Amino acid sequence: MAEDDSRITRFLTNLSKPFRRRSTPEPTMPLYTTGIQEPVMAQGITLPALYAVAQENLVLRTIISKLTQEMFRRGYYWEKKFQFCCVSCGEEYSDSVDACKLCGSPVREPDVEQMLYPKWLLKQENSMEQSFLHILYEIENDLNITDDAFLILIKEYHVDPDTSEIAFYRVKEVIRGDPIFMRIVSDKRGVRGGRYKVCTLHREQIAYPGQEETCEVCGNEMQDVHYVNMAGSGKTQYYVEGEVIHLSKYNPSKLYGKSPVNTMWRQAMSLTAMDNYIYTAYQKRRSPKGIISVTTDNLESMKSFWKSVDEKMERDPHYIPKVGIESATGRGGVNWVKFMDTLDEMQYIAVRDEIRARMSAFYGVSNIFMIDNGKSGGLNNEGMQILVTNRAVEFGQKVYTEVLFPRILKQLNVTDWKLTLYPNEEEDEITRLRRDEMEVNLAQRMMMLGYKPELMEEGERDIRFSYKKVDPQQGMPGGQPGMPPGMPPGMPPQGMPPGMPPQGMPPGMPPQGMPPGMPPGRGPLPPGIVNPGGQGVGIRNRGPAAPQSRTSAGSGSPITSVQQRGPQPTIAQQNQKKLGDAGRLKGA
Ligand SMILES: [Zn+2]
Ligand SMILES: [Zn+2]
Repeated sequence: MAEDDSRITRFLTNLSKPFRRRSTPEPTMPLYTTGIQEPVMAQGITLPALYAVAQENLVLRTIISKLTQEMFRRGYYWEKKFQFCCVSCGEEYSDSVDACKLCGSPVREPDVEQMLYPKWLLKQENSMEQSFLHILYEIENDLNITDDAFLILIKEYHVDPDTSEIAFYRVKEVIRGDPIFMRIVSDKRGVRGGRYKVCTLHREQIAYPGQEETCEVCGNEMQDVHYVNMAGSGKTQYYVEGEVIHLSKYNPSKLYGKSPVNTMWRQAMSLTAMDNYIYTAYQKRRSPKGIISVTTDNLESMKSFWKSVDEKMERDPHYIPKVGIESATGRGGVNWVKFMDTLDEMQYIAVRDEIRARMSAFYGVSNIFMIDNGKSGGLNNEGMQILVTNRAVEFGQKVYTEVLFPRILKQLNVTDWKLTLYPNEEEDEITRLRRDEMEVNLAQRMMMLGYKPELMEEGERDIRFSYKKVDPQQGMPGGQPGMPPGMPPGMPPQGMPPGMPPQGMPPGMPPQGMPPGMPPGRGPLPPGIVNPGGQGVGIRNRGPAAPQSRTSAGSGSPITSVQQRGPQPTIAQQNQKKLGDAGRLKGA
């Protein structure tokens, strides 16, 4: 990609040589002033407070940690960005080609050398003994709390001793920058930089606008500062372009994202207050549970009775006082006056569930995910917990595979490879094998169309093929099940998959003895095939339903569910079914 960029840049530079250039003004933001930008928080909440509530609140913490676990559950792998790439125009091909289809130049395979150092680097722990995945956990945590994450690439600059110029650099380690202290430096448009300049080698040399732009120590030209770390008063650290990667997950903008925890601040605090209430109610008993009022003619004897009860209760908390009440008048009695509202009366559960559901909805985590077995059968559900969050996981992973990883790789000068997170599909071994099987079937059919499948090696992933067109003149190499041209029609090839017209068949020729998959309603079916079209329900001996007796238009496929499963359910029926499914989530 970097090569591609520079190629286009060169082209544009050459193109505009004789001309002067002017461009559309970029809008300035009245709220921005050039320099260090501060993230905007609603309700005057500070960044440390966001972290505190996210850590304190059990629900919030559960949501965030489960989401993070699911996203990185299966780890990452290196993948070829392309199978072949044009050496001249940079066009990338995912199947095998002999020459560029656009310009005809020769193609090359991904450069393995390129990947060796980055692969090694990411396998190392950083100086805080963190593996790369642990850094990603931290990044994801930051994104879910503040919607801003900073990844700092610690670079080692190699300086030419004669000229004191930077010859090259290597990325030594990768660490997380704390969003509480990291700030973006931008001008009024939000364009990074524009205020401070710093010497890459001498970070204490800072130049403000209008100052000398070369380092006093080494004379190198100073670089624009894009990010600063404000930790430690008066000891601001300056980072130049390419040393810090900033990203947002939910609201990417010119500057900062928008914190989800800030938005759900009141809900989170309500939950915390509720938990506190329960805690004090059960543990400390701040307010008495109630008052016992006794109507009695003899107050003194009652006092001494309760005193002895209290003493006995102190020794044995399970002591049950036995009370006899003497009453000369025959009136009086014992009354229980209750103080504490019960949880039911406060609708505690309902409110808590409502808040919890809203918070988990934002993150795309289902309530079921939080082992909420109140409604849905507990352990029976384990299979579907993950299914529910597949989308949230997919969205979350895209932030890495499409934003963060390409930016890291750009700094590592990797153009031919990409880093990918394993998708979190809920799958067991059978599902996976079944998908592999389908892939192999597809490869067989592609072979019959005259393509040569080649197994792609991508991590420990599923079976995937890339296809290469084989010249029909030379034919298929060695005993392929493809139909050789000129074979008499009407002879079904062995191992032919359904629906496949044999190669070399004259057009318009009615197929005879066609295997299953033939469009229905075209002539009599061979005996023994009771169920054309693949999937079916039950045994059918009257042949397929005629397309003209369909009750709906179908979805465009020649084989619709209409033939197989009766008429489409009405909207009301569908709603009814969905309501039913929602009631018993298992299998929904
Ligand atoms: Zn090309
Ligand atoms: Zn310097």
